[in-house]
Amino acid sequence: MTLRIVPLYPELLSIYADRGNVRVLQQRARWRGISVEVTPLALGEALDPAQTDVVLIGGGQDRDQALVAEALVAQTPALRSAIADGVPILAVCGGYQLLGHRYVDQSGRDTPGTGLIDFESHAGPTRIVGNVVVETEFDGTRHELVGFENHAGRTLLGPTVAPLGRVIIGGGNDGTGTTEGCLDGRVVGTYVHGPLLPKNPWLADQLLAWACEHRGLSTTLAPLDDQLECAAALAASALARSERR
Ligand code: GLN
Repeated sequence: MTLRIVPLYPELLSIYADRGNVRVLQQRARWRGISVEVTPLALGEALDPAQTDVVLIGGGQDRDQALVAEALVAQTPALRSAIADGVPILAVCGGYQLLGHRYVDQSGRDTPGTGLIDFESHAGPTRIVGNVVVETEFDGTRHELVGFENHAGRTLLGPTVAPLGRVIIGGGNDGTGTTEGCLDGRVVGTYVHGPLLPKNPWLADQLLAWACEHRGLSTTLAPLDDQLECAAALAASALARSERR
């Protein structure tokens, strides 16, 4: 059985090396002997939830988001069906913003989102830029998530939407350094670039385990030698802490 990774519109939404997240999932599956295929969705194509085990959406400049938005919103029923079937989604920055109801940029352009998660994003007067450290918890285990943020958008989560984590260093969802991202079931939204997954292998394996469960594969992933990944995470954490904004 082959695990199917589906990046949405990577030609337009993959700013700050977010396509690296695809490579990490693909390689960490291969290192476990899992057959895996990557099938990017291009503009004009329809997502087939029955042929999807994990969805990735990267970030993008305001103009790229506007270019993608109509096509992405048209995939909302398919994405809703995939989510209901247990398909995990990782959406980063611009891709994250389009999981919500709208993103209003600094020019006032109101770009519609899928509304899959109850939140809105509005650009603020300044960009939020810098290294970030976020404290998060998955299944009772606490993790430190590290990376880099660069966004004008300020995201206000709806009353029932849980954040992905608590900001230790950085601006986070709304620039106040309180919450970061969103976590709704297996839908992970985050402002953290880097790319995210190489320095956060625990999150990569969480997404992989969810995708394997959806595909009917074993969710017991053999441990990998993550010395390099952990060293990178420590370096990123130390850098963020040295810059404390
Ligand atoms: N264009 C959006 C913003 O500036 C998202 C940017 C990004 O994906 N890095 O908030």
